[in-house]
Amino acid sequence: MPIVGHRRASHDDLRTRLSLTLWAIAATLTGCSDEPALPPVAWESDVLRVRVEDPTTVICEGSFEAIERHATLVRDVLALDGRDRILDYSVVEPDSIGQWCSSTSTACTHSPPGQVFTATPVLLHEVTHAVRILNPDTRLLSPALEEGMAVLYGDEVFRAQTPPLMAESLLQEQIVTVDQYLRTGLLTNILVQRHGLDDFMRFDRLAATTPEDEAFAEVFGETKDQFAQAADDHEACAPQQWREPLLECDDAPVMPDPATGRIVLTGNLSCGDPQVVGPTFSWMTTTRHFRVLESHSSPGHRVDVPRGTTVELVGCQAGCPERYYYDYFAGPVRGYFPTLEPGDYVVRLTRPVADDAGPFTLEL
Ligand SMILES: [Zn+2]
Repeated sequence: MPIVGHRRASHDDLRTRLSLTLWAIAATLTGCSDEPALPPVAWESDVLRVRVEDPTTVICEGSFEAIERHATLVRDVLALDGRDRILDYSVVEPDSIGQWCSSTSTACTHSPPGQVFTATPVLLHEVTHAVRILNPDTRLLSPALEEGMAVLYGDEVFRAQTPPLMAESLLQEQIVTVDQYLRTGLLTNILVQRHGLDDFMRFDRLAATTPEDEAFAEVFGETKDQFAQAADDHEACAPQQWREPLLECDDAPVMPDPATGRIVLTGNLSCGDPQVVGPTFSWMTTTRHFRVLESHSSPGHRVDVPRGTTVELVGCQAGCPERYYYDYFAGPVRGYFPTLEPGDYVVRLTRPVADDAGPFTLEL
């Protein structure tokens, strides 16, 4: 049974931007008749069934709802069907992932039936593969575009810069390294922006019944080589500017205080808080969606976050390279917020998993 699988290294230090090292390998699995029993069900809804092999695994309080919402959002945005099929998502121990995926993977999605197996509890990348696999009239695309879709709509944390695209060769490659994954995400973002998501999904469906290169040329009116040349001329940007923040920008935004004009974002970054998601590798995250109504500067702003927390601001609109992105502690002037123009934004707080991380307040 073929699977989509991949492995990814943990991010040793989100703030260094240097630590991404491994991931990802497509693999095939044969002889499934001796597969062990699936892990016990730990959480279930109409959309998602979560299985957890070790009941003592630390999984932050908001994780299952986030996975469920992400699956629904990807289905909605890509206009996919398969809602009658529950996404089966198994969190397994690192030393038993090889029973389900290739021995070098830390996660994989079986195709079919779209079951996810992951050694890190929250992996929206695999959820994105699975939702596409559960859709009845699409099939897996070639590696660069299949992984590109999973990265573009799934991967939530990237601290590396996007490497040079080299699109023509990327479209022929097996996707294995972090750099390749980053390149596939940007490549797919450029393709979707260039032709529109409706045409992309028309291509996706046609490629299920027609050789992919032919479907590509028929729908997009250009060959893959022609597209690759145009993509290589595209302006570069940070992964946070091309990755689609579906989940983060979905809930109701916090509005400025009408009396003071301030934007006040509060919460708790402890793993036990219902809005905290993770671990994704060793990291947990919470986000807050907020709206800027008029050009907004933040003199006297306040950032009170648990020690070791990364504070990032990401715009909800526009694409590469226009989408807003700012890293508070790594920006050009530490401890300063640039003026924000009207629009919707997300603040993302990330830190190593801990139950005692405590409360936060951001006042812009
Ligand atoms: Zn993948």
